[in-house]
Amino acid sequence: MRITMLGTSAAAPDPDRGGSAILLTVRGRHYLFDCGANATRSMIKSNINPVDVNTVFLSHLHYDHIVDFPYFLLTTWICDRERAPVVVGPPGTQDFVDHLFENGAFAKDIEARRQYPRRQNTEILVPDVRECEPGTVFEDEFVKVTACYVEHIPQEITPCFGLRMDTIDGLSVSFSGDTAPCDRFIELSKNVDLMIHECTFPESAIKFRQKANVGTWSHTSPKELGKIAQKANAKSLVATHFASYDTCNPVVKDIMSVHMPKDIIGPALLNEVAEDIRANFKGELRLAHDNMRIDL
Ligand SMILES: [Zn+2]
Ligand SMILES: [Zn+2]
Repeated sequence: MRITMLGTSAAAPDPDRGGSAILLTVRGRHYLFDCGANATRSMIKSNINPVDVNTVFLSHLHYDHIVDFPYFLLTTWICDRERAPVVVGPPGTQDFVDHLFENGAFAKDIEARRQYPRRQNTEILVPDVRECEPGTVFEDEFVKVTACYVEHIPQEITPCFGLRMDTIDGLSVSFSGDTAPCDRFIELSKNVDLMIHECTFPESAIKFRQKANVGTWSHTSPKELGKIAQKANAKSLVATHFASYDTCNPVVKDIMSVHMPKDIIGPALLNEVAEDIRANFKGELRLAHDNMRIDL
């Protein structure tokens, strides 16, 4: 099994990190968890043909987790995709998809391109959407994927899911989506080989945000993350969904200065994050970067 971290940032635009996207590959078959900004280009950078990705899971409908989906599907359509993908996501996913293609935002593009003889196959642009509830959300001969609610956006707006994949080879990987510390996700992740968990802000930014009264949805701090991975008995942990706090780019620094003191932003902050996670988690730890590959 191979895991490719295609995109590892949160919502801020970051030239070095794309939006949330993780590719899990089991016996050569690809499964995409989230489709944030740059996911498709990142697949190509990792030598994965996006045409071969036929199953997509969306943890929730925040744009940093879904915005590349129309690019992914339209691009693979013109690159001779052979079938419409399966899309598993929270209630609201069908509505999101329905507003994109033939009757939506890209209607004129599709109308124009279908004038070409080889672009008659617009059924490719009608994904098999499966809106899910907690429990088993997908199964094929190689994998079973289960989901639980996590704590992020108010449920009445849209539920957010944590996901777990168990493979035919006895391997397991869980992914938190975006969430505050969540017992249901710890339960879902029990004894996983690899936990991939959001770690949006370092402790120093969290303190700053509290004082600055920056409005936010719920996330998990590095110290909390260590406890979560320890409680779940995860063999290995990948922290991801970093709010660009390690950037060297002056524009991103300006943007992120709403969330944390500008002078602490930079690669060294990752050392603090690693130390804070390790204070509570004794297993193997990786801090994600785009195109990072993990073989299990
Ligand atoms: Zn997010
Ligand atoms: Zn979110």
